[in-house]
Amino acid sequence: MTAASTTDFLVVGGGIVGLALALELKRRYGDCSVTLLEKEPACGLHASGRNSGVLHAGFYYTADTLKAQLTREGNRQLAAYCAERGLRLSRCGKLVVTTGPADLPGLEELLRRGHSIGVPLEAISPEDVRRIEPRARTVERALFSPCTASVDPAEVIASLVGDARAAGIALLTGTAYRRRASGGGAVTSAGTMRVGYLVNTAGLYADRIALEYGFSERYRILPFRGRYLLAEPGAPSLRTHIYPVPNLENPFLGVHITRGVDGGVKIGPTATPAFWREHYEGWGNFKLGECLSIAAQEAGLLLRNDFGFRQLALAEVRQYGQRALVRRAAALADGVHREGFRRWGRPGIRAQLFDVRARRLEMDFRYEGDDRSFHVLNAVSPAFTCALPLASYLVQRIAERLP
Ligand SMILES: Cc1cc2nc3c(=O)[nH]c(=O)nc-3n(C[C@H](O)[C@H](O)[C@H](O)COP(=O)(O)OP(=O)(O)OC[C@H]3O[C@@H](n4cnc5c(N)ncnc54)[C@H](O)[C@@H]3O)c2cc1C
Repeated sequence: MTAASTTDFLVVGGGIVGLALALELKRRYGDCSVTLLEKEPACGLHASGRNSGVLHAGFYYTADTLKAQLTREGNRQLAAYCAERGLRLSRCGKLVVTTGPADLPGLEELLRRGHSIGVPLEAISPEDVRRIEPRARTVERALFSPCTASVDPAEVIASLVGDARAAGIALLTGTAYRRRASGGGAVTSAGTMRVGYLVNTAGLYADRIALEYGFSERYRILPFRGRYLLAEPGAPSLRTHIYPVPNLENPFLGVHITRGVDGGVKIGPTATPAFWREHYEGWGNFKLGECLSIAAQEAGLLLRNDFGFRQLALAEVRQYGQRALVRRAAALADGVHREGFRRWGRPGIRAQLFDVRARRLEMDFRYEGDDRSFHVLNAVSPAFTCALPLASYLVQRIAERLP
């Protein structure tokens, strides 16, 4: 096989979490060999390369969560990393606007959360909103987050890949992890490897791999697809991102308008249940077994209406078309018209964890492991923002488990 046939650490999955973790392992255990397997021809072709590129500030999360603890620091570290490496970074900030009085309690809650974890966040008047972004609409007060920023996810991934190679990590792209081998090994598409310790950062497939090692027993990944509508080339840009007040009961942030590092504007992402894990477009990557088990899971959720899944799914299906999506976004900013948003961008899929015992969506990052393996579960948004401190945090958890 092309793979080194023995490795101290095997990291499965070359998204931002796997790359950052592999680098952190190499930093901490310099004498050990670290191998990263990525089934695709390149790293970052799934969630890490198909997201909004927003460096979040962290005010959506309650202080007791890992997301709250890591987002602020992740934002700071990734922004510093971009500056150091000359990667594009737009410190454009973000407005959270209200579309009616019903949004005010949610807005107050976000402000309370932001202040409780020390994230800079200002409550501002409709006049201030217009000063920050003349096209933004708000019915009442709004929030301004000066630390929210934009990066180009592909540039960040490419830079981390370069760091990994320079650090001596064996980066095996186009090589899939297939299954656990007897006697502490892994069967890959390029042969069998002897593995000292396995770290699973396989995103949409993380629960599958974890199950083989006796973990993720109460969790299954429920994939939610996010689609984007892109502004026509040359359309006027925005100075900031504009978000609605989300329903804090579910992990999605509502349809928003973002400004990319190049000034390009997009609406989205939606959050529609997908029927197989890599269900991006049409029948691409279709897997019958996955489709049957996910469809059965979703049918059960619809029937029982766990965590308001019926309303969530119906609301998302209603805004599925271009017209409805533009209508939602037009409530956030002036000058958003159907003629200006005619092209779909590349969709992304969230590897959202569902707790099959408590029958609810898991809101925070999760990890499980022992002295043989470690599994990163629910690395959903804002795991891109958090990736650097998340990796340090997780390597510390691994260190505590190593024999
Ligand atoms: C639509 C959308 C918008 C988002 N917007 C933002 C945002 O603006 N800001 C933010 O901070 N976060 C955002 N996120 C979240 C962020 O993108 C993810 O949290 C993050 O990218 C997760 O990284 P990951 O490495 O865990 O997963 P991934 O990037 O999915 O990487 C997992 C990798 O594992 C590989 N893999 C799977 N199985 C195997 C196998 N058997 N063998 C080998 N390799 C395997 C896959 O090919 C994949 O490359 C968004 C996510 C989505 C879907």
